[in-house]
Amino acid sequence: MEKVNRRSFTKTLSKGIGATALIGNLPLAHTMVNPQNNKKLGIALVGLGGYSTYQLAPALLDTEHCYLAGIVTGTPAKENVWAKKYHIPQKNIYNYSNFDAIKENGDIDVVYVVLPNAMHSEFSIRAAEAGKHVICEKPMAMNVAECDEIIKACKDNGVKLGMGYRLHSEPYTQEVKRFVREKTFGKVKDMVSEAAYYSGGNPNQWRLDKKLSGGGALMNMGCYAIQGLVYGSGENPIAVTAQEFSTRPAYFKDTDETITAQFDFESGAKGEMLTSHNQNANKLRVNCENGWYELDPASTYIPLAGRTSKGKLRFAQESQQKLQMDDFAKHILFDAPNLAPGEMGKRDMIIVEAIYKSIAEGGKKQTLKFKAGYGFSNGPTSE
Ligand code: NAD
Repeated sequence: MEKVNRRSFTKTLSKGIGATALIGNLPLAHTMVNPQNNKKLGIALVGLGGYSTYQLAPALLDTEHCYLAGIVTGTPAKENVWAKKYHIPQKNIYNYSNFDAIKENGDIDVVYVVLPNAMHSEFSIRAAEAGKHVICEKPMAMNVAECDEIIKACKDNGVKLGMGYRLHSEPYTQEVKRFVREKTFGKVKDMVSEAAYYSGGNPNQWRLDKKLSGGGALMNMGCYAIQGLVYGSGENPIAVTAQEFSTRPAYFKDTDETITAQFDFESGAKGEMLTSHNQNANKLRVNCENGWYELDPASTYIPLAGRTSKGKLRFAQESQQKLQMDDFAKHILFDAPNLAPGEMGKRDMIIVEAIYKSIAEGGKKQTLKFKAGYGFSNGPTSE
């Protein structure tokens, strides 16, 4: 009932009918309004590590349709620092134990899960059960079964689910998707997609601990390399073959260091991907019948850059995280498309599992079966 009320409330606001009068009756945090005089959604960040601190929270100062309303942290020392910096009232601060009480908090509309991968499913499900919309960071979960549980919890509780896939809101990536849609350069022939960085820091970090990360480079950066091949061609793969290499096994004791994989697509297009924690690489190159397009870098936070066989691409730069969170808020408030639905996260995890299986079976080709467009924005919701 509460959810229905909130939805019809925001619908009323989005039409601009009686918005001022309604806002006047709400607690302070709800009075935040965007330039169209519509309600801004309150986001609570769960996990205040590097990504929340340096990317998401600063971006939420600039978002038009949402703002940082609350935090969930396991580190008490962060509470005051964040409360002061972002004007967060004490009643909107939670820890991992009392988190479920967020259900009663009308300031929080969306919970954004920014924790180590092993904690994504638990907190996404608890957020959905508290009646909050969910943004889940990548990779969606530890395995496909957990992705299913998150999707089900969000459906059962009538809340929206989006992935933290910022690139779908980013103009260079959107241009690549337009080239594919409009066949600007003709049929796609072959692609190379790389997402990798050199990891040399603390050997005890959670990203190198399989219990918390689920895997190494493939779980961390792999989604960018996989996604490049998928949105670069506009198709889901029908088969994948993969190989794993390690040149620093003493450091990468528990997780994969470097993985390469070859993708087959129904159209006949071929894709090569590389992901690694042992080198720096970041690009997408797509060769077509009548030309080519390339992003380099293709998935960093710093401005992307792109070229095609017709010339350089140039787009204004804005925070990708700002664009991403505003797009998800518009999905909730105005029924705009969900640019990175949960099924997209699950689709990528199906591919990740197939890559690990291929490696475990000595490079054996794995067949993949997706419904056309499964996991794309507004694609079918069953495989
Ligand atoms: P981080 O290590 O900087 O922060 C992790 C946070 O989780 C910390 O606040 C830590 O206190 C907390 N935490 C709770 N339980 C923990 C435990 N058992 N072990 C370790 N930390 C624990 O990590 P991060 O870079 O902020 O990444 C968080 C999530 O965000 C990951 O899923 C990552 O893949 C994702 N991420 C996404 C992007 C992107 O561009 N979309 C970028 C960076 C990170």
